[in-house]
Order: sequence, then C-alpha cells, then structure tokens
Amino acid sequence: MAESSAPPAPAFIGAEIYRLPVFRPPHPLAVPRAMLVRDLIAACGWLPESRYHEAEIATVQELRRFHTPDYIAALQQAEVAQDLPASVREATRIGADSNPIHAAVFRRPATSAGGALKAAGLTSGGGVVHAPGVGNHHGRPARASGFCFVNDVALLILRWRDLGIRRVAYLDLDAHHGDGVEAAFADDPDVLTISVHEAGRWPRSGNESDAARGILNFPVPPGFNDSELAWLMEAAILPAIRAHAPEALVFLPGADALADDPMAKLDLSNNALWAALRAVAGLAPRLAVLGGGGYNPYALARCWAGIWAILNGFAIPEALPPAAVGVLREVAYFRPAGRNPPSHWLTTLRDPAAGGPVRDAVKRLAEEGRA
Ligand SMILES: [Zn+2]
Repeated sequence: MAESSAPPAPAFIGAEIYRLPVFRPPHPLAVPRAMLVRDLIAACGWLPESRYHEAEIATVQELRRFHTPDYIAALQQAEVAQDLPASVREATRIGADSNPIHAAVFRRPATSAGGALKAAGLTSGGGVVHAPGVGNHHGRPARASGFCFVNDVALLILRWRDLGIRRVAYLDLDAHHGDGVEAAFADDPDVLTISVHEAGRWPRSGNESDAARGILNFPVPPGFNDSELAWLMEAAILPAIRAHAPEALVFLPGADALADDPMAKLDLSNNALWAALRAVAGLAPRLAVLGGGGYNPYALARCWAGIWAILNGFAIPEALPPAAVGVLREVAYFRPAGRNPPSHWLTTLRDPAAGGPVRDAVKRLAEEGRA
C-alpha cells in the first residue's frame, strides 16, 4: 500500500504452534484463532504458498529487547516444570490471574514474538504484512497480563526502531485498552499510540490522552457502533496519524470489539474495522496488521479474513465458496452460541452493517482527542 513504486505483495505470518489446544474451556482463548484465519483465506483461494510465512521462535536475546532476563527464565521454567514457586507466580503473574501455565507457555508466546520480528523484517523497506497471531498488547517487561505472556507488539516496533525507522503510529481498536504498548512507548514521542476501547472495562486504564507524549485514548461507551467509529476516525484519529507522519503503522483490529464477541459490549460490525483499515492503509509506507483479542472464532475469522482480502484488493464475496464454509463448519466453539451458529457465521464474511446515532459522548471524545 506504499504510495511509491510497487511494494512487495502482502505477506501472511502464521505458526503451526497456534493449533496446539493449550487453553481449555472455559478459558476464552480455548478457540481456534490465527490459523483458522489462515485456513479460511486458503479455502477462499487467497493464499498462494509463497505468501505464507511460518513464524520462527524468537531467541532469548531477542526477547530481552523488551522483557527482563528473570521473566524470560520464569516462562521457560514454567514450561519445563509445568509449575512455578508461589513467589514467582506472584511476581510474574505466570500461572496467576487468567494466564495459565500450559504445555507451550514459553514456546508459543516466543513464536508470536518471532512472528512480530519477521513482520518488522519483511517490511523494513516498505510493504504490508498480516500477522493475526501477533497482538499481545497487555504484556509487560516482567509480568504476564490479560492472557499476554510477551508483548510482541512492542518487540515489533522496537525492531523497526533498530532498523532505523523512527516515526511509528499504533492504532489499537481492541475492546480493551492497549496498556502494555502505551506504557512501552509512553516516553517516546516518536511512537504515537492510539487506543479505542470500552470505557470501564478491564484493565480500566486509558481514560486520558496526553498528546504531547504521543498518547491518545478514546474510552468509548458500551454499544459503540459503526457510525461512531467512523466519526472518531474522521474527526480525531486520521488527523492525528497524518500529523504524526509515520514511517510505519501498526493496526490492531481486536475482534473483541465486534458485537458478536462474548467478552465486551461494543456493537461494531466487521464493516467498521474494515473501513478503518482502508482509511489508514495508505498513511505510511510500512503497514503491519496484527490480531489482538477476539473470543468468538466465527466473528474473528470472518473479520480477519476480510482484512486479508482488503490488503490484497480481493472483492469480498457475498457467499463463501463451499471449501470455506467447510472450514467454518469444523470450528469447535464451547460457548452456547457455538451449538447452533447463525447461518451467516458459516456462509459469509460480511456482517450486517451496524450503523446508528453518534452519541454526544463520542463526539466529546473526538473533540478532546483532537491533537
Ligand atoms: Zn481485548
């Protein structure tokens, strides 16, 4: 999507390790995610082999660019021993909160980190990557948080910085505040972090902006609809990104912002996230589209498959081809909605539009967030 001469075709980054069923119901992550997207776009005929890149596990040295040595050692120890001393759990939150110790508790997040580093490398000279397994935006240098054992987003941006790319913009549309990424770059005005998230929802931060430090937050009310996201984009977010003049852009379309997601109360359709992507795609010569949250596998896969279509200029079909319907029919979703999924979860990518009135609270946020 670079404006200059022919950029390389978009690359898709996945990892077979995501298929391991390491999370068990009722953990929200006990659903297929990134590789379901891979399978769905392949079934649509949209993924030539040359465009698929398997993430490689990041080295300890690479992880240390953001994480502390003790924390990385704890992750490794947790995987080997399948346990940690209480004091280490307490300090690192590995095996605490909703961050369970599982069979690949080091290798899987370290592979997401490897995918993030690959995303940075593939776009070093310009271009577009889609890495839906990357997007652990809550991770802290020495602490797991919100299902995130690493902060692969921070590692991606740091790798770009190490490659000489200075000005970066990060747009996080996940239902939860992108607190880990904001904190990572709070003292770096060259990295603009923007988060749109449900007000009052965990981690309950992100209530204020600090434009001088490159931090913009839009804590939106429950019921946030397609028209309201379009309003925020036009009135505040796009002007801020343009003013920042980024050399590289990260777009995190958390699928828990969708109305069909069980973990938040926003009412977006996938049309809104697709429109936001179209609006930002030309604003920097490098674009990394990641994943983020998303706990309804049908909603997530259809949204993120549509994102791959948009990045490639493919028309989104009204009806999915039989092979793609077959992929969605194989999905195991442990929640009640998975017993009898509505037909459009199986046969289409596009949600019904979810427009509506733009509430005063949203207009006020746009005013306050205007840089
Ligand atoms: Zn989320």
